[in-house]
Amino acid sequence: MRYVSTRGEAPALLFEGALLAGLASDGGLYMPETWPKLDADAIAALAGLDYAEAAYQVMAPYLADDPALADLKAVLEEAYASFHHPAVAPLRQIAPGAWLLELFHGPTLAFKDLAMQVVARLMNRALQRNGSRATVVGATSGDTGAAAIEAFRGLDAVDVFILHPKGRVSDVQRRQMTTAMERNVHNIAVEGTFDDCQALVKALFSDVSLRDSLDLTGVNSINWARILAQIVYYFTAAVALGAPYRPVAFTVPTGNFGDIFAGYAASRMGLPIARLVIATNLNDSLARVFATGIFEPRGVIATSSPSMDIQLASNFERLLFEIGGRKAQRVTGLMAELRATGAFHLEGAELDQLRHLFVAHSVGEHETEITIRGLFEETGVLADPHTAVGVAAARQESIAAPMIVLATAHPAKFPEAVERATGRVPEQPERLRPRLGQQERCAFLPNDYRAVADFIKANARAPVGDARVGAGV
Ligand SMILES: *Cc1c(COP(=O)(O)O)cnc(C)c1O
Repeated sequence: MRYVSTRGEAPALLFEGALLAGLASDGGLYMPETWPKLDADAIAALAGLDYAEAAYQVMAPYLADDPALADLKAVLEEAYASFHHPAVAPLRQIAPGAWLLELFHGPTLAFKDLAMQVVARLMNRALQRNGSRATVVGATSGDTGAAAIEAFRGLDAVDVFILHPKGRVSDVQRRQMTTAMERNVHNIAVEGTFDDCQALVKALFSDVSLRDSLDLTGVNSINWARILAQIVYYFTAAVALGAPYRPVAFTVPTGNFGDIFAGYAASRMGLPIARLVIATNLNDSLARVFATGIFEPRGVIATSSPSMDIQLASNFERLLFEIGGRKAQRVTGLMAELRATGAFHLEGAELDQLRHLFVAHSVGEHETEITIRGLFEETGVLADPHTAVGVAAARQESIAAPMIVLATAHPAKFPEAVERATGRVPEQPERLRPRLGQQERCAFLPNDYRAVADFIKANARAPVGDARVGAGV
């Protein structure tokens, strides 16, 4: 399987190349050249498999002809052994026809673990195989950074630099990141928003000399491997509720559009999905584009669901590539329009295609809070604010298919919001306790490209070989 850039200029790569590159060199995102299909029999055969086995069936076609394929089975087994539920991603019914898909049983209590535990291992093995080293750079609104640091800490082949918006992540999220004392882990608190952090990371990648001298790679959901690992639970959940014989619907608390794009990929692979509901908080640029055809990100608003405080959803570019008939020129044009005018317009067939499978709802802060309270009163389930945004959005849909809401974080990750809504403090899982209340280590930097680039240059270990030659200062 080969991977092509949404912007059409970067060379096509095999899976391992896309995994190690993160962002494509032309600023685009890597996409599989074709969508592998699972027929009804293959989907039905996923029923009853271990999660790691099901993951292998779904993911392996994307690694066809790739050196990483030989690692995949062992990587998946190791990765999901770190989860604290034998089903890895269990379903819990919350109403007639409605389920939560619990994606928070990994080491950092958010769904990011499901992919990051896999991606870190695949990367480390690929680097070891090639005798090289890499510098992972990522922006986080809280959960990606925690999951990445947990997955990469102590790995020899990788240095990790995580940028988070200072003061805009929860206390638990921050401490999950800053209490990692391993020498290969570096936290940077940026004076700015998540969108600022993401823009800095993109700028680092477009600095060719820096990118090449430090072998920069990314583990944000701009990395295809993240999306790939997230496709799996759409299959396992749907099969548990009757797929391929009956279609299901999903509601996905959405920030950077990575998780829900994995649902779209599942549907392209043949999983019968009746509807994908995009649930956003007050940062509603995605909800607005569905309503009006105009994508116009505004300033980021801080909410009780900080991991979704994103206006400029990177992975939306992947969907634009698909609905535009995979014409890189169209994507490049839209991105140029966005840069020049702060917006772009979709119309006609493109908009129809968006609306064919997706709907989008924005959920306010009060509604989020009463949803947490209502769900607790009705079912005894404590939902974190991100999950509650999903539940509230799902309730606006009436559809005959079973509705599966992705529960993206454990309530104990956002205890203040849960307590405010319900009067209950969610119990902190055992595995989190030893990590909190320790010493913290973090650099504080302005929202300034030079400051961040200089910090990374000063702290990244030299890559193997003489790649640094000619890199400038
Ligand atoms: C990252 C995150 C999201 C948003 O996922 P995207 O892939 O960025 O759309 C939602 N909820 C939680 C808890 C998250 O950590």
